[in-house]
Amino acid sequence: MPVYEYKCEDCGHRFEVLRKLQERDEPIECPGCRSGNTRREVSAFGTGISSGSSGTPGSCGCSGGSKFG
Ligand SMILES: [Zn+2]
Repeated sequence: MPVYEYKCEDCGHRFEVLRKLQERDEPIECPGCRSGNTRREVSAFGTGISSGSSGTPGSCGCSGGSKFG
């Protein structure tokens, strides 16, 4: 699960939250002042979003059985 950074517009508090991708833009409460006036900060990573990753996690394509004899 990715970590998203949010900033409170009321108190200026910045905090990180572990959320699901589809929940990243849902409103979240500021842990500092309990305000709902928060917005998601754009992470420094950015600009590297690839849609549709190839290769499912947990499956390695190493099927090498060396049978000799
Ligand atoms: Zn706040």
